[in-house]
Amino acid sequence: MLIRIANTFKQALFPTRCLVCGSFFHTAAHKIRDLEAGAMGANHSNIASEFIEKPVLTSTNGNYYSDNIPKVFGKWMAPFLCQTCTSGFLPVESPQCSRCGMVFKSRQGEDHVCGECLDSPKRFQIARSAGIYKDTLMALIHCFKYKGKTQLARPLGTLLFTAFINSWDKMSMDLIVPVPLHVKKMRMRGFNPSFLLVKDWVRITEILHVEFANIPIDITVLKRRRWTEPQTGLGRKERLANIKNAFHIRNGSKIKGKRILLVDDVYTTGATVNECAKVLLKGGAGQVDVLTLARAV
Ligand SMILES: [Zn+2]
Ligand SMILES: [Zn+2]
Repeated sequence: MLIRIANTFKQALFPTRCLVCGSFFHTAAHKIRDLEAGAMGANHSNIASEFIEKPVLTSTNGNYYSDNIPKVFGKWMAPFLCQTCTSGFLPVESPQCSRCGMVFKSRQGEDHVCGECLDSPKRFQIARSAGIYKDTLMALIHCFKYKGKTQLARPLGTLLFTAFINSWDKMSMDLIVPVPLHVKKMRMRGFNPSFLLVKDWVRITEILHVEFANIPIDITVLKRRRWTEPQTGLGRKERLANIKNAFHIRNGSKIKGKRILLVDDVYTTGATVNECAKVLLKGGAGQVDVLTLARAV
């Protein structure tokens, strides 16, 4: 009780600064407490029961979170974002390409294979993302990657996990492979954002009370052998040339016949993940699917 009162006072005296727009805002103290409790290992945090009560976790046609990605986003980002920036999150929604996940401009109709996938089929099976790479999500990913705000790993990881169980059966993967960074970039940044986004999935599912068979994560099999210029600002053709032969496989026996979930932060043209998928399949993988936090439009 005392802690609760202290938190309320703390919130009133020291409002939080929104990570995206920098404005000060007040977060309901209980939301922060629940998230912190979850983060520190409480088994039955209110946030988890809230998820269950409001049937975010109810399975309808196998989808657990259908239409609820913005809800998940709002809950987990509460300690970091003001209301305006929270509502600036745009989920990926149908109609989209049933293969590469491209979001169609028209908001009418069913999912279908896009022209580009028909012209040059992708090496991976399907690609899916949680949100559109714009506004709030774009700013958050920048904070996370370039400003070292690693406290975003768990909320963003939860968002990514939500997108995962929205599109795949939890048991459908043998291995998670985060897109690797070059060793030089890894040294500069100190962490691989894609790895941080999946590292805590087991803990996240405990907090959410979702049954989850731990999918092993492998950061040794796929390696970046060549330093590549950042893909940002490059056109499609330049991106393809820039990324060609940038990856190789080490200890290929680990991926023989395996169903692999390749994870990256942003899907822009798909050049990077497609190149990774090509190398993984050549190395013996049975199937490669792609999951990213954001999708460029
Ligand atoms: Zn804001
Ligand atoms: Zn497509």
